[in-house]
Amino acid sequence: MALIRSWVESANSPTTEFPLNNLPCGVFSTEETEPRPGVAIGDRIVDIARLEEEGIITPEGGTVFDVPFWNDFMELGEDAWAAFRAQLTALLTEGSSDRERIEPMLIPMANARLHMPFAVSEYTDFYAGYHHATNVGTMFRGAENALPPNWLHMPIGYNGRASSVVVSGTDIRRPMGQLKGADDDRPYFAASGKFDIELEMGAVLGGASDGPVSVAEADKMIFGYVLLNDWSARDIQAWEYQPLGPFQSKATATSISPWIVTRAALEPFRADTPPRIHPLLDYIRDDGPMLYDIDLTVAIQPEGAGHETVLARTNHRELYYSSAQQIAHHASSGCPMNCGDLIGSGTISGPLRENRGSLLELSWGGKEPVEIGNGMSRSFIEDGDRLTLRGGASGDGYRIGFGECTGKVLPAR
Ligand code: CA
Repeated sequence: MALIRSWVESANSPTTEFPLNNLPCGVFSTEETEPRPGVAIGDRIVDIARLEEEGIITPEGGTVFDVPFWNDFMELGEDAWAAFRAQLTALLTEGSSDRERIEPMLIPMANARLHMPFAVSEYTDFYAGYHHATNVGTMFRGAENALPPNWLHMPIGYNGRASSVVVSGTDIRRPMGQLKGADDDRPYFAASGKFDIELEMGAVLGGASDGPVSVAEADKMIFGYVLLNDWSARDIQAWEYQPLGPFQSKATATSISPWIVTRAALEPFRADTPPRIHPLLDYIRDDGPMLYDIDLTVAIQPEGAGHETVLARTNHRELYYSSAQQIAHHASSGCPMNCGDLIGSGTISGPLRENRGSLLELSWGGKEPVEIGNGMSRSFIEDGDRLTLRGGASGDGYRIGFGECTGKVLPAR
């Protein structure tokens, strides 16, 4: 697929994350305006709330953009999403007669502050990266027991807290927690000394379900995707995770990118899941390509350092289970899924050391600290470090990006 040219010149640059092919959904404010829905185009944001006020965009189902989140629009469903995308594409296409009317409704991105793009209804996080699960399992339980017997048969997950999800740019406070002591009878309460990143992507649900759904139906419920960093305290996790899985170690914060890239924009980049080690049961069997060729990086910048260092590079294709399979599994028990649900993919690591999506794996539990330039190294995050996720899909002369997912770690208190 080729670049669709826009009269917004910056949207035609091969390096922009926001060409006309993308049209990702965010919420922005300026000195003059309260938070409101906007769509990124080049180095501008289209004020969607204003487009609706002026009657230029009129989604079926009434006014949906007079609120500082995309949920009301997401609830309208697939046909409304497609109609909106088609209309916005026509308005912004090179040569459009609407240019004069729309141009005053573009805000320079440099003047805008970005907010949470949607209200998170509930947050579930999975553990669907084969290389990540194998690496972590090897460290925690030994190579023989790396993958639990259920892992190759279902996507493993846990219910997280919607309240912990924050938008990119939010500072992250190092957590306090209960840690294992010199022996099991002497735990103590202190700041986590093994605070970590998890490079993930999140699926944002637009559709809802009240009962089981097929993998194909689950895929159609997905409105779009965000970059996601599931901040994790490994020392708290190691002490608490048996028998019911992670709890406080994952409850501090989960950062997401400020733009939801729609499933429609990612359509040309669909990719298959890897070959199955065991055939999957029918209710989560693969039903077409439902991963995406999205390259992902995570970088670190210590406080006062003049530049950042890329820690790892990986790709969404490395996941063993797609978001659609995760949702089909989640709904199979009868668990209702709602518009605004956020489904974390699990950490996405690849087969090589440089593909590892967490410091736990990169430093192999702290045994092999990672060099980050200027004579510095890291086993885990230090106070003042800024961690930034980036990602994108590259088409013919254009790139679909998410904006960065960044956060700086502050000392515990
Ligand atoms: Ca996670």
